[in-house]
Amino acid sequence: MERPQFFDAIRQLISTHHKLVLTIHTNPDGDAVGSALALAAFFRLNNQDVTLVSPNKFPVFLSWLEGSQNFMIFDQNATEVRQVLQQADYVFCLDYNGLSRSGTLQDDLRKLNCSLVLIDHHREPEIESFKWLLWDTVVSSTAELVFEIISQFGEEYFQNQEISQALFTGIMTDTGSFSHSINRPQIFEAVAKLIKNGLDAVYVHQQVYDTFSEDRLRLLGHSISNRMQVFNEFSTAIIALSKDDLNRFNFQIGDTEGVVNYPLSMNNIKMSVLITEKKDQIRFSFRSKGSFSVHELAKNHFNGGGHANAAGGSSKSTLNDAVDQLIKILPFYKNQLNS
Ligand code: 5GP
Ligand code: MN
Repeated sequence: MERPQFFDAIRQLISTHHKLVLTIHTNPDGDAVGSALALAAFFRLNNQDVTLVSPNKFPVFLSWLEGSQNFMIFDQNATEVRQVLQQADYVFCLDYNGLSRSGTLQDDLRKLNCSLVLIDHHREPEIESFKWLLWDTVVSSTAELVFEIISQFGEEYFQNQEISQALFTGIMTDTGSFSHSINRPQIFEAVAKLIKNGLDAVYVHQQVYDTFSEDRLRLLGHSISNRMQVFNEFSTAIIALSKDDLNRFNFQIGDTEGVVNYPLSMNNIKMSVLITEKKDQIRFSFRSKGSFSVHELAKNHFNGGGHANAAGGSSKSTLNDAVDQLIKILPFYKNQLNS
């Protein structure tokens, strides 16, 4: 579906009253929460009935966002979420490319009779599941796509703080605070428009990045000093954190956000991997610099995917086995990692 058709569909949609549900991916990040909040505010201003649903809780560094308290959390309130989904005219899926990325919510989404709408920038979307798609892997973030949608209806929407702060949060966090995916002028044009309309960008930056607990900062230090292995031969660094590591620093959701980026600041490192032991699975977080695609690696070996330079995955093995599995495959990627 091309952009003009998608925008027409939205124009048509808001011309009469509907019940809309906006969903985001499991373990939501700034882009998921930000793009959903901005779109929700826009829809509400256009007289739509909107419910926000997240599969699980999101981190404190996002809970300051206006409207974030309105999210229904499926893990905590499945019965009510199911009722809302049953009554929906349209269910939007933001910042994820396939229903399995909605975690515990996926079975309910698959059973729905109403139309699903995708707004996303991840590789290889599950196209057949959606009636309308606004999908583009070139953009920095889903928030940038939501910015485009809202732009069709007038710049005055960006005077609304709920919208502008949410969009800026999405763009800022998905570009690693404007450090990657920033070679398109449209990103800065979007941000400039938000600032022209009154956004306090410094305030948002501080709310997201300067609100660490002492434990969170010490966990970062521990991760780098004591848990990072560097494989110079493969231009790779791996940080593995066990449940004990996390408990020792009183882990809260979001506390490992950003940890995976630090090893990439070493000049010879092309890929950084954070492996964390969760309650019932091992999570992988991959980042790369340059042409090495972590999407392919995550997809081929770790049941995941994402973008060329940022991807995730999971495994049901033990932490040590997960680390070993990754170390074993590094030689196969040696040439690509060193090129
Ligand atoms: P993170 O490492 O921050 O969890 O995720 C990096 C990127 O990969 C994000 O855009 C995220 O949505 C995506 N991602 C994370 N985990 C998975 C996964 O298990 N499968 C897929 N397809 N994408 C993932
Ligand atoms: Mn995103």
